[in-house]
Parts: sequence; C-alpha cells; structure tokens
Amino acid sequence: MLSVLPAPRPLDPLTLPGPVWVAAPHPDDEALGCGALLAALAAAGREVRALLLTDGGFSHPGSREFPRARLVAERLTEWRAGLAALGVPPQRTRALGLPDGALERCDPAEVERLARAAFAAAPPATLLLPWRRDPHPDHRAAWGPLTAACAGARVLGYAVWLAERGAGTDWPAPAEARAWTLAVGEHRAAKARAVAAHATQLGCVTDDPGGFTLAPGMVRRALDGPELYFEEIPG
Ligand SMILES: [Zn+2]
Repeated sequence: MLSVLPAPRPLDPLTLPGPVWVAAPHPDDEALGCGALLAALAAAGREVRALLLTDGGFSHPGSREFPRARLVAERLTEWRAGLAALGVPPQRTRALGLPDGALERCDPAEVERLARAAFAAAPPATLLLPWRRDPHPDHRAAWGPLTAACAGARVLGYAVWLAERGAGTDWPAPAEARAWTLAVGEHRAAKARAVAAHATQLGCVTDDPGGFTLAPGMVRRALDGPELYFEEIPG
C-alpha cells in the first residue's frame, strides 16, 4: 500500500491557517488520528475547535450495563476529556448527535446544514477530518457534507483506519493528494492521555463480547506515529 502513497513531507502545524477545526465522526477519531497535531497547535497557543458528528452509541449494542443512552453520555464525556488533554476546552466543542453507524443514511444536505451551523461562530480556515476513503462507512460519509460546509478552507484528511484496514485503492494516488507527516514526538504523553480518556473503547464495557474494543496494536501504532495527512491536489 505504501507504494501508492505520495511521498510525504513534514507538516509544520504553524502553517495551518486558523481557525482550525477537527471533525470526528466518532469520539476518539481525533485522538487516534491527529492527537499530536492538536497538541502541537495548543502548545503553540493556537485555538482549535472540535466537531463530533455521531453520538458513538453503537459500539456496544449488546451491553446491559451500558444501554445506548448511558453509552452516548459516557462517550461525549470521554470525547471532551480527551480533547481537553490536547488543549481543546469543552466550550470550543460541538456535537451533532447523529446516529453512530448510520451516517451514510443521513441526508448529506442536512449534515452539511448542521455542520455549517456548528461552524458559524468561527468558520474553519483549516478543517481536519478523516481522509475521504478512510475505511469506515461513517468516515467516508463525512467527507462530502463537511467539505461542502467549509468551502475555501484548507482541508487535511487524517488517517484513522487506513493502515489497519485500508485496501491499496483507499490510499491517495500520488497525483490525487499531497501527503504530510507529523512525528508524535514530544506530544506522545498528551496523545496517550487523550486516547486513554476513551475508556469505553478500551475494555471497560465488559458485558458485550461482540462490542468494539480498540486493539492494543492499533493504539500503539497511533501513539508511535507518525500521523499522516492528505491534502487533495485541485484537479
Ligand atoms: Zn471513527
């Protein structure tokens, strides 16, 4: 798969115009995919805002201890705690509460409208969101309406599941996008705290054997980095 990857160049976080928004289809995508970038921006005094698309309520459908309403509330709390560890305070977060696992069945025009409303107070000059073919249906469904909601912004697609589950064709072709890379480096501890905030995704829900758990290898890869970003080349 790396053979199709455009040659990545190091990303200087300070070159990203503000306001910078990070969009997460699920609570934890931003921590796994771009925790170091968010921490770097915060360390430089840059203001970052965050938008959560779905309610995260589908990760443990069989749990009796965590019925959907409790899971949704818990995951929102985890999301805000994780972002706080990366320097994004709760007052700079917005959550749309769309249905986890069913974003592709939402009307894209409505998702765009909701995103535009969330962005209104500080429209993004840079938008971070999962790469358009990051291999999860909710991630893929986010690209169209979100990029439409911030026309003119610089858009960087981050990788969440690409290395884990992506096919060769999910990666950008060299002519399709510029690739940027960011070492986790000094921001590893902050990124680790942000990921650790997502306890429901790390095994604390024990009564749903079919429920979702982040594999230790996936967490390790996210913490080791580097983070990858793809920026489409206008065609
Ligand atoms: Zn996700």
